[in-house]
Formats: sequence, C-alpha cells, structure tokens
Amino acid sequence: MREESAPLLRLDKVSRTFRETSALADVSLEIRSGEFVAIIGPSGSGKSTLLNILGLLDRPTSGSYEIHEQSVATLRDIQLTELRARTFGFVFQESHMVGRDTAARNAALGLRARGIGQETQKALLGPALERLGLSHRLSSPASNLSGGERQRLAITRAVIGEPAVILADEPTGSLDTKNGKIVLRHLRALHATGTTVIMVTHDPEIAASADRVITMQDGRITGDSGSGAISDVPAEDRGHRVALVRHWRHELTELAADALSALTTKPAKAFLLAIAFLLGSGGLVASIGLSESAAVRVSDRIDAASNDEVRGTREGGYASWGEVKADVSKAKTLPGVRGVGIIADLPAADARPSALRPGSLPGQATFTGSLRVSDSEYLHIQGAQTSSGDPKLLDSSFGGPVAFLGRAAAAELGVAKPGPGTVVWLYGSPVPVVGLITNPGRDLVLDDAVVVGTGSYPVRTRVAATFVVRTEQGMPASLADALPKAINPAKTGDIKIQTVADLRELKQGINKDLARLVAIVSSILLVIACLSAGTTMYLGVLARSSEIALRRALGMRRSSLAAMFLSEGSLVGTLGGVAGSAAGTAAVLIYSAAEGWAPSIPWYTAAWGIGVGLISGIASAVYPALAATKADPAQLIRT
Ligand code: ADP
Repeated sequence: MREESAPLLRLDKVSRTFRETSALADVSLEIRSGEFVAIIGPSGSGKSTLLNILGLLDRPTSGSYEIHEQSVATLRDIQLTELRARTFGFVFQESHMVGRDTAARNAALGLRARGIGQETQKALLGPALERLGLSHRLSSPASNLSGGERQRLAITRAVIGEPAVILADEPTGSLDTKNGKIVLRHLRALHATGTTVIMVTHDPEIAASADRVITMQDGRITGDSGSGAISDVPAEDRGHRVALVRHWRHELTELAADALSALTTKPAKAFLLAIAFLLGSGGLVASIGLSESAAVRVSDRIDAASNDEVRGTREGGYASWGEVKADVSKAKTLPGVRGVGIIADLPAADARPSALRPGSLPGQATFTGSLRVSDSEYLHIQGAQTSSGDPKLLDSSFGGPVAFLGRAAAAELGVAKPGPGTVVWLYGSPVPVVGLITNPGRDLVLDDAVVVGTGSYPVRTRVAATFVVRTEQGMPASLADALPKAINPAKTGDIKIQTVADLRELKQGINKDLARLVAIVSSILLVIACLSAGTTMYLGVLARSSEIALRRALGMRRSSLAAMFLSEGSLVGTLGGVAGSAAGTAAVLIYSAAEGWAPSIPWYTAAWGIGVGLISGIASAVYPALAATKADPAQLIRT
C-alpha cells in the first residue's frame, strides 16, 4: 500500500536563484506516479526552471528533491545522468532534431547516447514509431519532416526508452491548432499506458486537457487543482518492459558512427581538414625518407672507400707536380694497386673563378664551389663521367691550362656549353672550358668543382697534393703499410697515409638541409593543420550546441561526448596521416629517382606518418571536446 501512496517526485522548499534573480522560491510539490500535470503561468514565472529541476537538468540552490523517496542532492554528475536517462523523457518546444540523420536514428538518439545495443534499439523503434504514426517516415532525414511530424518524432524519442515520466516544455508551442491537438492526443494516450506526464504551458486551453493544473507566479506555486485521476494501469506494467543495458562496446560503435556521420555529411570540410594533415604528416615522412636516403648514400660511399681506397701525401707538401708524379709512379708498381690519381684543392678565393672577365661587372657574385687540380686518372678511378673534351687534356701542359666543370659549378658560373670560346677566369686569366663532368662518380665534390689539370699551374711554393690509390678489394690495410716503404724507403715517416678511418674530412657532398627544411615546413604545416581543424571543429561544436545539450539530456555521459569529438578528430587525422604517408613515400621515391639515389625508407616511417596524423588530429579536437562537455542541457528548455 505504501508504494502506491508514496509520491514519485517530491520537492520540499526548493529554491533556485540565478545571481540576483530568484527563479523559484520555496516550492513544495508532490507528484504521484500516473498523474497528468500541467504547469501554467505567465512567462518568467519559473515554469521552465521547475521543469529543469524535476528533470535533473539543474540542481536546486536550496531545498530537497526526492525521486522515489531517494534524495538526489548527493548524486554525482554521472549518477544523475544515469537516473535522468532512466526516469525521464523530454519533449521540448523545439523538436531539436539532428536534421541530417534519419527519423529512426533521431528517435533512437537517447538509446544510442546510452550505449544500448542495436538489437534493443530495433525492438523498441518499430512499436514506438508505429504508436506515433511515423512508421512510413522511418528512413526520411529529419529535416524533410513537417513541424507536426517532427514534434511527434520528438515524443517518440522521449518515450522510446519507456521512461516513467514525460517532461514536456510547451510541446505544442510551435504547432498549429490541428497538430497541437494531435500531440496532446498522443500525450494522453501515453498517460493511458501508465506514463506520468508533466507539461509546461502558458495556454489555459491546453492546460485544461490535464488532470491536475499547477499555477505559478513569480517563482511560487499560487494554485494547485490537486491530484486528479491517477492512471489505473497496475504499477508492475509501468516503466521498463525491456531491460536497457549500457554497454561500452555499443557506446564506442555509436561514437565512431557519429564521428563518421559528422564527417560524411560535410565531405568538403572533412576533405580539406584531411588535406591539412596530409601535408603535415606527408612532409614529415618525406623528410625522414630523404635524410635516411642521404645517410645511406654517404655510408655506402664510406663503405666502398674503406674496401678499396688509400690516400697519401707528403709531410710539408710537394715542391713540384713532378714530385707528385714520381710518388704516383712508385705507388703504381705495388701489387694490388689498380690506379692512382692526383688531387689538390686550391683556394678558390684567391683564384676568383668567374665566367666574365673579373671587374667587367661591378658586384660580381663570388664562386662558392671548389677549385681543384686533378688528372684524368683520378676522374677515372672515381668513376666520374665527362662530356665533350678528353680528360687526358688535364694531364698535358702543351696547350696551356684547361678546365672541366662539374654540373653544379657550371650552373653557378652560368656556363651552358663547353667548347671553343667558353672560358672561366682563374687568377685573372681566361681558361678554356673543354668539358663538363656529367656524373661525379664516387667523389661528390666534383659536382660543384672547377677542375684544372696538373699541367695548368706551376707550383710556386709547396702544394698540398694528395695521391688517391684505388686498390683491389680488401687491400687498403696492407697497402697503407707498403706505400711509405715503396715511395721513400729512407724516410718512411715523410709519407702520410690515410685509410677510410681517417676520411672524415671527406666532404659528404650531400645536403641534409633539404630534409631539415622539409621537416621544419611540415611541422609548421602540422601546427596550422591542428589550428584550422581545431577551429573548424570548435565552430562545429557551437553550431551543434543544441544537439550536444540534447545528447546530454538524453543520457550521454560527458566522457562519451568528449570521446565523440576526439574520435572525429582522430578519424580526420588518421585519414590525413595515411594519405600523407603515401604522398611522402612517393615524394622520396621520385626525388631519389631524379637524383639517382637508392631510396631508403625505413619501415617505421609509414607508422610515423599515420601516428603523427592521428595524434595531431586528436590534439586538434581536445579544446572542442572540452567545450562540448561544458554544454548545459538545461539550455534546451530556456531557448
Ligand atoms: P518561465 O519558464 O515561466 O518563462 P523561467 O523558469 O524560464 O520562467 O524563468 C524564471 C526566472 O528565472 C526569469 O526571471 C528568468 O529570467 C530567470 N532565469 C531562468 N534561467 C536563468 C539563467 N540560466 N540565468 C539567469 N536567469 C535565469
């Protein structure tokens, strides 16, 4: 007996103030299960505030509120969310539909927000839509529905979870008389099945259709017609007929589906965001690939040299090219030697290489490459290739000095074609350019060098020339011992031998700057991607504020709401990252092919690209997600 007489909802001296304004003052009220109550009063009298407190969308400033004799004051936010979703169904003046979603999806929004499985959703959807006469509209987008249909859909959404109480705020407020009557008829029908209905209205005619009318004025109850007819459906038939079980797996599925739906309804926006992440992560992948390929190329060279190269020079330099050549001839007699070439680097600053006669143009740019004396055999043992003139021209002194130019050096000097009439000026004199070095082979410095022959420049003081010995595979170590003895048995200490272990001064000839530049630019792009994606998503949160508040009102947890936006961000980010990895890899392959490198793309670069996309996508969604969790569901009633 006691259960029957105990009120379902009980307010005791409840007040609610907003800063200065007292919206509710000392309201005491009991509502029993199975009542149909209308709350009426002029605008600003506190009706909506009362409804918000009853529906657990807001808390009283003072006083107590009990549901089923249980005080709600001590409940935490997550428990309130749960209790609200189980106990109340909301119908607002505006239907607040997610226009892009179908009627069925909108009707199930509360179930989806609560992580209730597809099976249960389907089982509940059919009968609920049927009851409200919307079965034929199941798969229409909500935005295609008429005002009356939308409000009936809102009722479907409110009742689908079979709550004990329907809270309706001006449910007919935006409808014409005919549709208003239809909605009222449905509310009455619901009441007849045992649901408690509490309806706010300012229209006395609508209020008259209720069994009990509570009148409000200035935040107080000024009239109460008292409990009228109580729906006589037995208590055990009221409320839940289907067990509604929240499951994190369904919650996750719904989050992913919602994130996907948000993206696919605005494909252009999603595409642009993904492009931003693509550029950023693609750039990072490319920079890793480029620097790796460059590093592999250097180590290949050093590996190769360690196997078959020895360099030697004389302490204090050489007094003449003849002396250098004498050492070279002796070195050539040793077993295991394949070839010996000569190089000497001259100070380019003294020689001032230029294509025009020095001083003929004011402010001529200074040459930044190298100036190198060498012979044909050196080019040969390094595997360098030349065009036009015979490299042997470098070895003779009969015709006067001649020069070969590396590709980069030719480009810098503005020399398009070697041959008669083409000269570079060195030490103030013109030197005919007889050929180009089209491929620097193993000595990458040749690319940006002006190479002149040993015959071209008489040695005035001593010259720090080096002879480079190409050996049979694996011979450098033994030749390093044998060379000083063969060249100058009397004074072996005079000859300085370098094997690859000492080759650190070997200029790498490789520009890691490119990789660094790409990395910097792509990091900046990533930051821009995060900012623009974050801004777009934040604007999306603002634009969807009523949808978000609705989800909260219907039982979505703050954490799930945040997760929804984080999944949206991670989805775009990952898509961008995947595309970026592919684009970055392609860029490395193309660049390496153009440079004639062997591309080296470590396996983890793709993972990096995708990971960077994912992480920056999530990062961009953090602020919007936080903003979304701040959404106040009570706003829905106040709008
Ligand atoms: P009704 O629904 O009867 O029109 P409300 O409950 O919306 O009345 O408002 C009652 C009073 O409380 C009004 O003076 C209103 O301005 C004030 N009020 C309601 N909600 C807020 C709020 N969030 N912030 C400040 N004042 C509010």
